[in-house]
Amino acid sequence: MDKIPVTRSSMPTFAEYTAEICSLWDTHWLTNMGTKHEQFREELKEYLGVEHVALMTNGHMALELAMQAMKLSGEVITTPFTFSSTTHAIVRNGLKPVFCDINPKDYTMDADLIESLVTDQTSAIVPVHVYGNICNIEKIEKTAKKYGLKVIYDAAHTFGEEYQGHSIGVYGDASVYSFHATKVFHSIEGGAVCTADANLAKTLYGLKNFGIRGPEQVCMTGTNAKMNEFCAAMGICNLRHLDEEIAKRKRVAEKYWSILGGVKGIRLNGTKEGVKSNYAYFPVVFLDSFGAGRDEVCDVLAAHGITARKYFYPITSAFDCYRDAYSTAGTPIALDVSKRVLTLPMYADLTEGEIEDICKVILGCKR
Ligand SMILES: *Cc1c(COP(=O)(O)O)cnc(C)c1O
Repeated sequence: MDKIPVTRSSMPTFAEYTAEICSLWDTHWLTNMGTKHEQFREELKEYLGVEHVALMTNGHMALELAMQAMKLSGEVITTPFTFSSTTHAIVRNGLKPVFCDINPKDYTMDADLIESLVTDQTSAIVPVHVYGNICNIEKIEKTAKKYGLKVIYDAAHTFGEEYQGHSIGVYGDASVYSFHATKVFHSIEGGAVCTADANLAKTLYGLKNFGIRGPEQVCMTGTNAKMNEFCAAMGICNLRHLDEEIAKRKRVAEKYWSILGGVKGIRLNGTKEGVKSNYAYFPVVFLDSFGAGRDEVCDVLAAHGITARKYFYPITSAFDCYRDAYSTAGTPIALDVSKRVLTLPMYADLTEGEIEDICKVILGCKR
């Protein structure tokens, strides 16, 4: 059996990409908001139906700069059940993450708990649409409004998804996408902040380019987070094939469901009404009744050449760099799920036969 990776980046044909970057050999304009950057930005605005898109070198810098641009202070309520980036972005802005537990159904922030974590220091909520599962947007917006808090959604997992007919990019004061090579849609490395706030968009434009406003004017302590032309060109190509990419992933998810759905001791990712999914990940939670634990299943899969990921384990508040500063005791569900969850191989070209092999190995662990 060939080795099966956990993910595999989708790519346009070599000919399509080289046609897209050909003009760069005429202009010699490789970065600093060139024509590919501007074309990609326009196409994203149109595709996502958002007013402003600030393209960034990656999703992490998009998160960091969204927080800096909003001049957040004090405490930020967030989830520990996420990729390191979300928590790091908060801490690297000099802010204090306050961890809210997740709900066991879709692993997003339990919106009913947010209010109990608000203090007079709280300035924002940073929820994550984890695995592409859409947060309880209504409750989050309501709580934010009541206490005058900003909301920045980490929407890194949601490109191509819609909720109630809108792209996920329209929600909150800002929504942040990642276009990393491992995501459903990518520009090799890349990311974007989407917002309806023109001033915020203008600030982000400055911050990603050292805070430079004019040849003799630097007005902010910015950084370098510009997207280059080659990445923008890859994004333009991949956007043409996104629907096909998602349709193929849907077939993979359905095949997994047909074999693993209803198996005792296995909990699969639920669906939410009104959501058009992008099938970004296929998380499986192993309950005690399965017999074998998550770590054992992961090891047995690895022995068969199949890579699954303990995504997200450990929760961010348990990282070496945070565990002395933050407790995991306040987020028992996140802690428990992190010890039980495994994301299975998921990419467009995963074959039915490979999915059957993966499931056979998993079910072979059951006791
Ligand atoms: C990938 C990811 C990021 C960071 O995006 P990069 O483009 O890799 O910098 C942030 N948050 C979450 C939840 C992610 O999965």
